[in-house]
This record gives sequence, structure tokens and C-alpha cells, in this order.
Amino acid sequence: MIELKNLNKSYGDNEVLKDINLKIDDGEVVVIIGPSGSGKSTLLRCMNLLEQPTSGEVKINGQKVSGKVKSELIRETRQNVGMVFQHFNLFPHYTVLNNIIHAPMIVKKQNKEEAINRAKQLLKEVSLENKMNSFPSSLSGGQEQRIAIARALAMNPNTLLFDEPTSALDPEMVEEVLEVMKKLAKTGMTMVVVTHEMGFAKQVGNRVVFVDDGRILEDDTPEKIFNSPSNPRTQDFISKIL
Ligand code: ADP
Ligand code: MG
Repeated sequence: MIELKNLNKSYGDNEVLKDINLKIDDGEVVVIIGPSGSGKSTLLRCMNLLEQPTSGEVKINGQKVSGKVKSELIRETRQNVGMVFQHFNLFPHYTVLNNIIHAPMIVKKQNKEEAINRAKQLLKEVSLENKMNSFPSSLSGGQEQRIAIARALAMNPNTLLFDEPTSALDPEMVEEVLEVMKKLAKTGMTMVVVTHEMGFAKQVGNRVVFVDDGRILEDDTPEKIFNSPSNPRTQDFISKIL
């Protein structure tokens, strides 16, 4: 379980997140929506400590992991809370297989055989076992993103954060990535997903959180948020993306 308590984040004078309180339970799929620049990426980055909050705290399973804690705990948190980015961020000079086995071998000290076996299994799950020896540059965006998901899963995280995973894709490739994410949700993976893909939010989201200007303005079921949001700002935003 991830818990953000009275979390604030500033860059200089720019207050990007303001008094964020959010709980993500194990197995939940939480979708985060909101205008560009509202702080969604920063919110995700605080959850796996890629960013430290300016004040307030991040707790995982009841344990405080933000602020002055052992670097070991920060490293552990980043392993347990994986991230998938809008622009995939695969290593261009590594094959697909090496992209996936790199971190498990270096960070988790898995032996090569073990890492390769797991990678093959994950490639099967994203239907790309035939691309094992390809380089990212030879893949489509949809394939690259499925590899990026496999790579994140190779670390055996408890939670996966997705930052607009389909926003950089050509429209015809969006569905293949969403399908992988839906399958993952069905396995019980805890997921926090920044996306404006309404179909995904309605089908697999347990909750939708609307962020505007650094604040959580609404946190409710997909049905409530999309059909009858309480806050006029949510209403206005939804009408623009529908
Ligand atoms: P969103 O993902 O909702 O578009 P972001 O979290 O990326 O929003 O950004 C929110 C605000 O924080 C923006 O004003 C952005 O310029 C600022 N910001 C984000 N990251 C940094 C950073 N590393 N340094 C300075 N300002 C940042
Ligand atoms: Mg963003």
C-alpha cells in the first residue's frame, strides 16, 4: 500500500503539488487525469522517490520511505515501485533481451540464466518473444512500449506507475499497449496510471483521481467522475477530453 500524506512539492517558488493525500491499496488500479502541467508526472515521481517531496511524507506498507531515510530503503522503494514512461526510455544500444535483463542482473544480482528465463517468459506475456534479439530502433512504438513494460516487470515490482504510456503512440498502436495493461491489471498488479484513455479507466480503473493545479480535486469511481463529477473543474476537463 502506498500512502501520500500532506505532500507538497516545490521547484523554487513553483508549488507543483499542494497538500496531496492519497492512498493506493494493494491490487488497485488508480487512474490519474488532469490538465497538462497540473503535477501528474511529479506526483508519480514522488511515489517511487525519483523526486523527494518538499514536505509531507510517502509511506509504503506503513513505513515512511521519504525524507531522511537510509539510502538502502530508497533503492528498495524504487525497485518495488516500477515506472513506465511516455517515451519508453529503452537503452538504444542494447537488444530487447539485454534491455530486460540489465537491471535484474546488476541491481538484483540475478544470474544470467535466471534473468534470461524470466525475460523470455515476460516477452511471451507481451507477445514479443520473436523480438528478443532486435534493437529498439527496429521496433514500432507500440512494441517498444510493450518491451518497456516487460522490462519494468522483470524487477518484480509490487506496483507499476505508468506516465501517459500511450500518449506518444500512433493511434493504431494504443490498443495493443492497453491490452497488455489490462491483462496486467487482471493479475492483481497494483497500478497507478496517468492517462486520458477513458475506455481503459472505465474498464479496469477502481478509482479516477482528478488533479488540477497541484491539488486533488476529486477522487471517485470512474462512473461518477465521467458521468456526474461533483467539481465544476472536473466537469469542464472531462467535457474537453471526451
Ligand atoms: P503534468 O505531468 O501534469 O503535465 P508535471 O508534473 O510534469 O505536470 O509538471 C508540473 C509543474 O512542475 C510544471 O509547472 C513544470 O514546469 C514543473 N516541473 C516539473 N518537473 C520539474 C523540474 N524537474 N524542475 C522544475 N520544474 C519542474
Ligand atoms: Mg506529465
